[in-house]
Amino acid sequence: MRTIEQLTEELGGLAGRTVLVRSDLNVPLDGSTITDDGRVRASVPTITQLADAGARVVVTAHLGRPKGAPEARYSLAPVAERLGQLLGRPVTFVEETVGEKAQAAVRAMSDGDVVVLENLRFNPGETARSDEERADFAGRLAGLADAFVSDGFGVVHRAQASVYDVARLLPHAAGGLVRSEVEVMRQLREDPQRPYAVVLGGAKVSDKLGVIESLITVADRLLVGGGMVFTFLKAQGHEVGTSLLEEDQVDTVRGYLETAAERGVEIVLPTDIVVADAFSADAAHRVVPADGIPADMMGLDIGPESEKLFVSRLSDARTIFWNGPMGAFEMEPFASGTRVVAEALVERTRAGAMTVVGGGDSAAAVREFGHADEDFGHISTGGGASLEYLEGKELPGLSVLEA
Ligand code: ADP
Ligand code: MG
Repeated sequence: MRTIEQLTEELGGLAGRTVLVRSDLNVPLDGSTITDDGRVRASVPTITQLADAGARVVVTAHLGRPKGAPEARYSLAPVAERLGQLLGRPVTFVEETVGEKAQAAVRAMSDGDVVVLENLRFNPGETARSDEERADFAGRLAGLADAFVSDGFGVVHRAQASVYDVARLLPHAAGGLVRSEVEVMRQLREDPQRPYAVVLGGAKVSDKLGVIESLITVADRLLVGGGMVFTFLKAQGHEVGTSLLEEDQVDTVRGYLETAAERGVEIVLPTDIVVADAFSADAAHRVVPADGIPADMMGLDIGPESEKLFVSRLSDARTIFWNGPMGAFEMEPFASGTRVVAEALVERTRAGAMTVVGGGDSAAAVREFGHADEDFGHISTGGGASLEYLEGKELPGLSVLEA
């Protein structure tokens, strides 16, 4: 992947050049309040680097899943404002992505200026399945600029106009965020320090089957919690009550348990579970053995004995990859398992281990618990992209940068 330095050399400097940057600014919003600005913060260094070098920086990004037409609740306006605060320089927000207003705003830029264009996905061309439609939109984006920098790691697994097609039309480079994310994931896949522990949780096992399959070939231990653990418990023949269960994945999971046993990979499952009579913060709840979940109760967190077990299986790890909360942490009675795992990672980070948090909800959880990004080796900005990379899939937004 070409670096910004190489691109700069190729262009004979960035001063006076308009550089289109694809950032990942897809943050959770509550109304117009950003509840976790991690992705905005992660986008700052590349934009700053380009603007400091005299480039006219045109930032593009998406927010949420609008269906190819403008929708006020998905406007990037509040995100552009936050970006301006974090950059410490004025940011001009344009209410459209391509077209008259965007072109005029770009024409009016001076060296070092930053413009943020409206949500890419207000345009059907961004995610169109038709190659022509996408290429047409990418052409209009490319027409705004002299070069392209891909810095939205969270979208590099998407063959979308602003990620993939535009890189084929302009001199391009990978931004520092994409490069550092890729380097971390490469280490996790290719040369982790051992012992290497992978902690998986979150809602659905089916989201994470590929990564389980791939990581049981490299990890030494796999710790499983969260909603997906019940498919594992079921595969071992236990009753899981009304817990999240993917019946159609039970056989697949049984296969993973066998593969792990053959390869000598340790699978660590909770020994006790916090169960509740409803999916609600004020539901009656108690701790039961993992093989004794009552038929009318649902598991919403790992129990205290499991917390100790998980901590002990992380205590000597030199590499930890964690994706997915251990329980329904958004509700305080079920946040403990996730909190304890987060603390175990912080501790291992201090001891010099490489720790990586992947997944949007996991990242939001650790921040909500009051940890700083620096408490971990790396907090990935791209849950889906990091999982696909670890699965060994080809990521179109990365391969296009090799060309
Ligand atoms: P990430 O975004 O970190 O990859 P996921 O999106 O896979 O994580 O899953 C996060 C969600 O999983 C959270 O909203 C959490 O409430 C939910 N979850 C975790 N454990 C359980 C459980 N036992 N039952 C129901 N939901 C759960
Ligand atoms: Mg999620």
